[in-house]
Parts: sequence; C-alpha cells; structure tokens
Amino acid sequence: MTTAADEARSILTRLGVADGVWGGDLPTRSPIDGSSAGRLHEATPDQVQAVIARSATAFQAWRRVPAPRRGELVRLLGEELRASKADLARLVTLEAGKIVSEGLGEVQEMIEICDFAVGLSRQLYGLTLASERPGHHMRETWQPLGPVAVISAFNFPVAVWAWNAALALVCGDPVIWKPSEKTPLTALATQAVFERAAARFADAPPGLSQLLIGGKEIGEALAADPRVPLVSATGSTRMGRAVATAVAGRLGRSLLELGGNNAMIVTPSADLDMAVRAIAFSAVGTCGQRCTTLRRLLVHEDVAEGLIARLVAAYDTLPIGDPRQEGVLLGPLIDEAAVDGFETALAQAAEQGGQLLVGGTRVEGAVSYVRPAIVRMPAQTAVVEHETFAPILYVMTWSDFDAAVAMQNAVPQGLSSCVFTDSVREAEAFLSAWGSDCGIANVNIGPSGAEIGGAFGGEKETGGGRESGSDAWKAYMRRQTQTVNFSRDLPLAQGVRFEV
Ligand code: NAD
Repeated sequence: MTTAADEARSILTRLGVADGVWGGDLPTRSPIDGSSAGRLHEATPDQVQAVIARSATAFQAWRRVPAPRRGELVRLLGEELRASKADLARLVTLEAGKIVSEGLGEVQEMIEICDFAVGLSRQLYGLTLASERPGHHMRETWQPLGPVAVISAFNFPVAVWAWNAALALVCGDPVIWKPSEKTPLTALATQAVFERAAARFADAPPGLSQLLIGGKEIGEALAADPRVPLVSATGSTRMGRAVATAVAGRLGRSLLELGGNNAMIVTPSADLDMAVRAIAFSAVGTCGQRCTTLRRLLVHEDVAEGLIARLVAAYDTLPIGDPRQEGVLLGPLIDEAAVDGFETALAQAAEQGGQLLVGGTRVEGAVSYVRPAIVRMPAQTAVVEHETFAPILYVMTWSDFDAAVAMQNAVPQGLSSCVFTDSVREAEAFLSAWGSDCGIANVNIGPSGAEIGGAFGGEKETGGGRESGSDAWKAYMRRQTQTVNFSRDLPLAQGVRFEV
C-alpha cells in the first residue's frame, strides 16, 4: 500500500513545489502511518534576515497599490485555491491527520476568507469627524502597516495563514510565514499556490508572501525584529507569552490566538439529541486537537445520567483509523508527545478523583491513535483547568445556573463557550455582561467550528487577538487622524492663543 509520505511527495510535485526543498535536516512525518517524505532545508539566520529585508522592500511598492487592486490579487489567490482544493486538502489529511471532510473544510475556509477579503478591499472605511475649528476637516484613515509575521500551529496548518494573509494583503502588508515545524509540507504547497496567483498579477512585487521553514528560533527572530510591526502568532499559551514579551519589548504589535479550554453548559430544558451530536463533533473532531475543542461538559444533575449514558454509547462505536478511509471520524494524534500528554492528563485526572467512563487507551499496533476519553470529575480540579491538546472530555455537574456560568468562567483561558437550553432567560443570561467571559459564545451550537464572518479569538490566556471577520482587519493597519485647514486663519484647538 502507498505510504502517506509517498502520496504527499507526489502531490507536492503536482502542485509545483521544487525538488530543491529536500536534503536538509528538518524531518517530516505523517501521523497516519509514521512514514517520512524526507528532510527539508531550514532557513538559516542569514536567510531569515534576507527575507525580512525583502518584505520591507515589497512593502514600499505594495502600499502604493490601491486597496481594490490589492483585492484583485486575493481574488486570484481564491481562484488558485479553488483549483488546488482537492490536492491541498489531501495534503492536510496526510500531514496533520485530519479526516477527509475536515481537510476539505480547512481549504474551504481559506477560499472563504479570500472572498471576504476581496469585498473588504473596497470597505477599509475610516471616519469623518466634526472639527471644532472653522474651515477644518478631520478624518480618520487606515494606512498599511508593514510586514506581518504569521507564526502558525500544526492543527490548522494552512487556514491560519490564509486568515492572516488575505486580510494583510488587502490592507497593504506583505506576509512572512513561519509554519509549524510539524506541518511544513502543507505550507510549501500553499506557498506554491500563492506564487501561481502572484504570477498572474502584474502589480505584485517580489517577496509579497514568503515562507520560512524551521523551528521556533525563526519565530523568535521575527518577534524580535523591529522591521516587523505586527506578529500574528497562533499556538500554545507558552509560545504566546514568549512572543508577546519579545514584541512588547520593542513596542511592536502582537495578535495572539492561543490555547482554549472550552465548555458547554447543558440545562434541564436542553434538546439532548442536538446536544449529543454537538458534543461528539466538538469533543472528538480533529481528534481533540482544535483550539475550540470541547473540553469541559457542565451538565445539570437532573439530566446528567441520561446524557452521559448516551455519550458513552456514542463514543463506544466511533470509527477510529486511517483518516483517508471513508466513514472514519477519528484520525491520529499528531505525534507521540501528544499521546504522552493524553496519558499523563488521564493519570492526573484519576489522582484528582476522576472516574474514566469510556476510552482513554491507545489503539494497539497503530502509530499515535487513541480512543477518546470521557472522565467524570468531582470538581474543576487542576488538570481540568489546563488545556491538554487531545480528546479528553471532563464532565462535571451543577444544580444552580449562575454557579455553572461561574464554573465555565473559572479557568485561565477564554476562547469559546456555549449553552444548550430552550430557556430564553438562560440563553440571554449566558450572552449578557455577567455571562460567558469568552471571545465566542454560542446558544444551541457546540464551541467548535466558527464561520469566517465573525471576529475569531479569545480573552485571558487565549491572548485577546481577533482574526478573520468583522473589523479584525484593523489590526493589520495603522490608524491616522488627519486634520486639514482650508481656511485663511490658524485657530488653535481649545481656544489656545499664541500670537507671534
Ligand atoms: P506551539 O505553541 O507548540 O507552536 C506554534 C508555533 O509557534 C510553531 O510554529 C512553533 O514553531 C512556534 N513557536 C514555538 N515557540 C516559539 C517561541 N518561543 N517564539 C516564536 N515562535 C515559537 O503550538 P502547537 O502545538 O503547534 O499548536 C497547538 C496549540 O495551538 C494549542 O494550544 C491550541 O489551542 C493553539 N491554537 C490556537 C488557535 C486559536 O485560534 N486560538 C488556533 C490553533 C491552535
């Protein structure tokens, strides 16, 4: 049978990735079968410097291209992504282990953010403001910012680049991408797709979007460099803390999309059929490796036993295996370190009074495949407050709605949250100022699977950044307040007089 690595190599060739990328030290590995497509060259420190310099030069030209023209490049990018969707999605499956529909969904997300950004390129609206001085106009204008570094995680190996790049490009900013060292192949393929779009667009300066393959030292170099005014970093809270500190040290701007610890509150009036389906997808999809994965189920004690029994039954029959196969819903964890994290968290949960209800074991004879776990906890203990990037669902019960909301908020992370209820009082309270403290709050929808039209991101240790829709574009531009005097006087604001 063809190995995942062999299949990945042939897709890369078809997408136009040059053979010269091979022959370095960075290992590649498919989590599906552990096969390696070979070793890649990593960018050297000198190459990192050259890429940043090239990006700064590209900015000089790109900021002069009118925004709707810049949108035309992103439209072409969307076209190229549509043409390569099947190949790129397959590569996401091969390199990140996602099931087929999730691989396709990830590329679809790239296409949709391109569509969104094309419209946005004609809507980078500013304001006109009333001046207190006669014969004066005031306005607020958004200007291009400069090179944007995108540091991305393994679990959305291509969509995160697209969320950032599509907006940055229409905003007038070149992009430098440092993908996860665990998923460099999808990044190389995406870069090849971008190059095809850029080749069709006469106004694209060289170096508009560049790729730096390698480890965290490259991310550190980007975070430290004052030529990069915005660093958009997606990954663990530990990484975000390091990036935020480095960027703040030079008074730059960072956009952080970090870990989540997402909860669902199930109330007595909830539609349990819907809740079971929402829980299964959001707790188990992508093998629990989404930032928005459901990790905490807070269920009213009156409906807990019935709901738990249905979940255990659903977990028992989940099809686990090679994510390329039709019908499989659960592929592998990304690597052995992730399996260790899974097993360690389950051992800690047991020590902290947890009762394992289903799953929690490795699939024998396979690479990094596990059976997703449900653990009933006596309280929200230390292990529950920590994001373990694996399919573990902690279940806790409650009797008072306000206490449930307080429990949902009592973790360091603040990404996504939801309530299942038929009570308008509970739904609106959950969405009120004293309700969920997360960046995303849903009613009768699981916490996972956001649409690109909304601003995406979270509070507290999730980092506070917002990407994708709404006015997230403003992070990629600089705001300028402009005042024009078209009178023949020179009045000062606040009535100050200064005659010379
Ligand atoms: P990770 O933090 O290990 O790595 C992410 C990226 O940061 C990689 O490219 C890595 O090379 C780089 N990096 C690591 N340390 C760095 C440093 N000190 N300076 C600069 N760059 C550094 O994360 P991961 O294991 O790839 O991804 C899983 C994590 O990402 C989870 O915590 C998940 O919740 C989070 N995530 C968040 C979102 C979101 O939108 N909030 C989306 C996807 C993933």
